[in-house]
Amino acid sequence: MLIDTYGRVATDLRVSLTDRCNLRCTYCMPETGLQWLAKPDLLTDDEIVRLVRIAVTDLGITEVRFTGGEPLLRPGLVGIVERCAALTPRPRLSLTTNGIGLGRTAEALKAAGLDRVNVSLDTLRPEVFATLTRRRRHQDVLDGLAAAHAAGLTPVKVNAVLMPGLNDDEAPDLLAWAVRHDYELRFIEQMPLDAQHGWKRDGMITAESILSSLRTRFDLTPEAEDERGAAPAERWTVDGGPARVGVIASVTRPFCAACDRTRLTADGQIRTCLFAREESDLRGALRSGAPDEEIARLWRLATTGKKAGSGLDDPAFLQPQRPMSAIGG
Ligand code: SAM
Ligand code: SF4
Repeated sequence: MLIDTYGRVATDLRVSLTDRCNLRCTYCMPETGLQWLAKPDLLTDDEIVRLVRIAVTDLGITEVRFTGGEPLLRPGLVGIVERCAALTPRPRLSLTTNGIGLGRTAEALKAAGLDRVNVSLDTLRPEVFATLTRRRRHQDVLDGLAAAHAAGLTPVKVNAVLMPGLNDDEAPDLLAWAVRHDYELRFIEQMPLDAQHGWKRDGMITAESILSSLRTRFDLTPEAEDERGAAPAERWTVDGGPARVGVIASVTRPFCAACDRTRLTADGQIRTCLFAREESDLRGALRSGAPDEEIARLWRLATTGKKAGSGLDDPAFLQPQRPMSAIGG
């Protein structure tokens, strides 16, 4: 079991498969991209599967989410999914992706054992998409979403970040579109995790303003507190249901007390929180021949260092050295 000093148990593992990306979302990375990890520093497919196996069989992990960077850029993705799906006990497997290329891979991923996807899409307007992501790939994302739904990678969740002056007027349109397509929409408050350090608290669109904008067009009923569990999203049923909408208010309504996450970076570091400034190296242990029990021990030890909260409200808050794309969002 991965238990921290506050009694929280981590059962949800986020695995970053690469720090690279084919988009350049303004809230995530600069136009020029970043200094990518060198290939030898990345965990190999075998190393990733071994760590997931240890997490599932020895440490009580029940959910594995592949992310990045853009995980669809990882050549061995389908094989990694297949091997993780063969583990006992079988973890639930999901993927967070920008959706580009999902049109081609959704069926293979489903066949390999992927249960569902979260696709990031912030706007319905191709021009705004090009400004937000600095790439003209809007239609590819829509195609990827449709393919994921058709392949049964459901519920298909859509993650949207609203940015002032760009797409902050789109919340109701995005929700109407998501309901029509049977996608579950979740808005994510913009967090200080961009490589350019451009985040400003007074410039971000808050959960409260997203909800009031949605309520101009929809009737929202809060979901019972006990249905939320450790889920980061607070959810509402839309116009009496069954459609739902979620808001992940990491900044204005942090949910750290119920956090059940542990994270593995593409270069084999354990992070107990997106906002942590410390990492614990598992790659070194893996490559020096450590047995499973030693790796599990290091992972447990890392978990004891998990802080009570993100520290966002602390005036002395310092952004983590690594941006979201390198940690694994
Ligand atoms: N490339 C994939 C994608 O975009 O879905 C996976 C990685 S991305 C870092 C994971 C999620 O983090 C996406 O939904 C993205 O919108 C979100 N994200 C990135 N930077 C963010 C920020 N500064 N604040 C809030 N969410 C952010
Ligand atoms: Fe790439 Fe995802 Fe970051 Fe956008 S949010 S630049 S798609 S890693």
